[in-house]
Amino acid sequence: MAERSALRVGLLGAGQLGRMLALAGYPLDVRCLLLDPTADSPGSHVAEQIVAEYTDPAALARLAECDVVSYEFENVPASAAAWLAERVPVYPPPAALEVARDRLHEKTRFRDLGIPTARFKSAESAQELEHALSELGVPALIKTRTLGYDGKGQLLLRDAPNAQAIWGRFRGVPLIVEEYVAFQRELSLIAVRSTRGDVAFYPLVQNEHRDGILHLSQAPAPNTEGGLQHTAEDYASRLLASLDYAGVLALELFEVNGALLANEMAPRVHNSGHWTIEGAEVSQFENHLRAILGLPLGSTAARGYPAMLNLIGNLPDRERVLAVPGAHLHLYGKAARAGRKLGHVTLSCNTAEQRCERVDALLRMLSP
Ligand code: AMP
Repeated sequence: MAERSALRVGLLGAGQLGRMLALAGYPLDVRCLLLDPTADSPGSHVAEQIVAEYTDPAALARLAECDVVSYEFENVPASAAAWLAERVPVYPPPAALEVARDRLHEKTRFRDLGIPTARFKSAESAQELEHALSELGVPALIKTRTLGYDGKGQLLLRDAPNAQAIWGRFRGVPLIVEEYVAFQRELSLIAVRSTRGDVAFYPLVQNEHRDGILHLSQAPAPNTEGGLQHTAEDYASRLLASLDYAGVLALELFEVNGALLANEMAPRVHNSGHWTIEGAEVSQFENHLRAILGLPLGSTAARGYPAMLNLIGNLPDRERVLAVPGAHLHLYGKAARAGRKLGHVTLSCNTAEQRCERVDALLRMLSP
């Protein structure tokens, strides 16, 4: 039989991350097979999608026929990940899911590895919540341990806490209480480690959020002299090694008076790495595929001074976006809905000054 070059990657999730992973696979003849219960997902427009529940035995059996299985979200059912891992390599390792989907496990892991975080306490009853708040003081952030994302499932408490009422408001789910960090800015590090143990890091990204959703990323982040890149890489290296990791890992950080505190990790390609498609030598999506397939990693160097702006809620006018110098438009094929990530724009820029000008021009153009 003639030798075939195609490699098959099974993916749990067919959202925009699955779509961009599948697109990155094409030049390498890496074919993605996506599993997602929602029909007509962004990924289905560019790759084959199985429409079934994540625990569907027949669907999982098809994914198990791939060379390797990966995922694009944290809340993969543990039973599905475990079933697959017995039959096919699953990367990032399911242990990373266990850590990332529970904020208490995540922050505890950071602490155990000597990675600084905001002070935190677990609360599994109204009494424990009261105790945590009295120890940490206000302002404080109260977050559900699981199922929170984009600022959902959290409450910023500014004054005298009524622990009983707050406990009721969260309907008795396990919580984590964190001291409020008056950070100067939010940064993220996109790291990648291959099954061969090779490791690479993209330059630190500076992120701005609106209503809890990522709005603007700039890379390399301005003003990172003073060892911030080195410190962030050191923290990410500890996580990668402790999890025997393969794939892309994103680490979200707060910068406070020149120090870095870890807030969250994502065991997957990340929104704050979307600029890498045009803005880096090799994108986070291609490097994720290379990493999990045991191929050599590509250069993570930035090309100039890219920026990335998310398109949230409203679909933009294609013509006007594309008329902005340096703009690359990515639409995910989704229907417009308030608060929904519909696409993003990468701006290619030669200098930091040009980046400021182009970001301003794009923001003016997109503002209603
Ligand atoms: P998270 O869901 O943990 O990623 O938090 C969403 C956003 O809330 C972060 O991007 C920060 O802007 C803010 N935030 C989270 N935790 C803290 C904290 N301990 N102190 C101050 N701001 C926080």
